[in-house]
Amino acid sequence: MSQSSLYTANGDYNFTGDITVNELVQKYGAPLYVYDFARIEKQYSKITKAFNTERLRVNYACKANTNINVLKYLKSLGSGLDTVSIQEVQIGLKAGFDPQQILYTPNCVSMEELGQAVSLGVNINLDNLSVLEQFGDLYPDYPICVRINPHIMGGGNHKISTGHIDSKFGISIHQVPHIHRIVKAHNMNVVGLHMHTGSDILDIETFLLGADLLLEIAHQFKDLEYIDFGSGFKVPYKEGDASTDMELLGSKFMERFDKFCAEYGKDLDIVFEPGKYLVSESGYFLANVNVIKQTTSTVFAGLDTGLNHLIRPMLYGSYHEVVNASRAEGPTRLYTIVGYICETDTFGVNRRMKEVREGDILAFSNCGAYCFSMSSNYNSRYRPAEVAILDGQHHLIREREDMQDLLSKQIEIPSL
Ligand SMILES: *Cc1c(COP(=O)(O)O)cnc(C)c1O
Repeated sequence: MSQSSLYTANGDYNFTGDITVNELVQKYGAPLYVYDFARIEKQYSKITKAFNTERLRVNYACKANTNINVLKYLKSLGSGLDTVSIQEVQIGLKAGFDPQQILYTPNCVSMEELGQAVSLGVNINLDNLSVLEQFGDLYPDYPICVRINPHIMGGGNHKISTGHIDSKFGISIHQVPHIHRIVKAHNMNVVGLHMHTGSDILDIETFLLGADLLLEIAHQFKDLEYIDFGSGFKVPYKEGDASTDMELLGSKFMERFDKFCAEYGKDLDIVFEPGKYLVSESGYFLANVNVIKQTTSTVFAGLDTGLNHLIRPMLYGSYHEVVNASRAEGPTRLYTIVGYICETDTFGVNRRMKEVREGDILAFSNCGAYCFSMSSNYNSRYRPAEVAILDGQHHLIREREDMQDLLSKQIEIPSL
C-alpha cells in the first residue's frame, strides 16, 4: 500500500486532510466511491515535469471517470480532454472546456454524430478511410486529425501485440498513401496525427518504436500542428508492481521529438491522453461486509456490492488491492471476496486481510478509473454515491440512486 494515501504509518486508514473511512461511510453510506483529488494533481505533475515543455498538451481521457468535478479539476490543472462519444464532448463543454481543448476520437460512430462534433467546434480525429472520404465530402474545410495504427509488435514481444487487439482502431500505417489521395481529392487540412496503441508503456522501447513510426510518416503531412501519442501509461496495482518510468520516457521521447521538429522545420505540439494514469490511484471503493461464509475450502467475505458497481475484476481480470479498513490490529487471515450479484462476481481470491467481521468496511484501491464509469443497475441495484476530497474537505459529488432513477424512463402500458 506504499503508493496509497489511505494507509498511514500509525495504522489508521485515512485520506488527505485526515479524513477517515469511518467518517465518510457514516456520513454518505456504503458502497461509496471516494476520489482524493490531491493524487490526481500529483500524477498530472509527474507528466508535465517529465516532458517539461510548453508544447506539451495533456488531454485527460475522460471515459475513465466522467464525474464533472473530476473534469473541472483537471481543467484547473491545465488539462484538455480526450473524448470518445458526443456525450463526453457535451459533458466536457459543460465542465467549461473550450472546444479547442477537446479532441473527439470516435470509432464506428454515425456521420450524424460527427456532424454534431463539427457544429460544436471540437477537434476531430478520424480513424477510417471510408469515414475520412465521407467527412471530406461534407466538411472539406474542417481541420482534422488522423488516427494511425502503427501495428507495433514490439520486436517480437507478444505481450504488446497491440496491432492485433487494437485492430478495429486507426488507419493502417500501410494505408498512408490512400489517406493522401483522399485528402488531396477533397483539399482537406490534416493538422494532427494520432496513435493510441494501448501498449503497456512499461516497455518504453516499444512505445518509442511506435512513436518513431508515427514521426517517420509525419514528414509526409506538411500542415501539422500537433502529434498525439495516445496513452498506455501504466500504474501499479500492488506492492512491487512497476509503473511507467515517466522521467526516463520523457527524456528519451523529447530527444526524438526535438530532432523531428528540427527536420520538419516547425515546433509541433505534443499531445498525450492518459486516463488511468491520472485518476486510477486517486480512487477508493468502500464496501460493507454483509456476511462471512465458511465453506469446506474457503472463507468468503460477501459484500454489499458486486459486479454492478465494480466490474473490472470480472470483465478483464484486473487486480484491486483490498484492505480491511475497519481493523488495523489483530490476526491476518485469507479471504475470497465476493459480491451479492446472481452470477459469480469474485473481486479477489485468497486475499490476506486483517480478520474480517460482518459489518467491517473493505477498501479497494485503484478505483478512480473505469470503475464508476462502468457501473450499472444490474439486479436493479442503485449505483453508489461518489465523494471527492479536495483541499482536505470532503464533498458529495454524486448522490446514491433511488427507486425513481430505476423507473424514470420506463413507460407502463395502460392496459396492463
Ligand atoms: C481509453 C483511451 C485512452 C486512455 O487510456 P488509459 O489506458 O486509460 O490511459 C486514450 N486515448 C484513447 C483514444 C482511448 O480510447
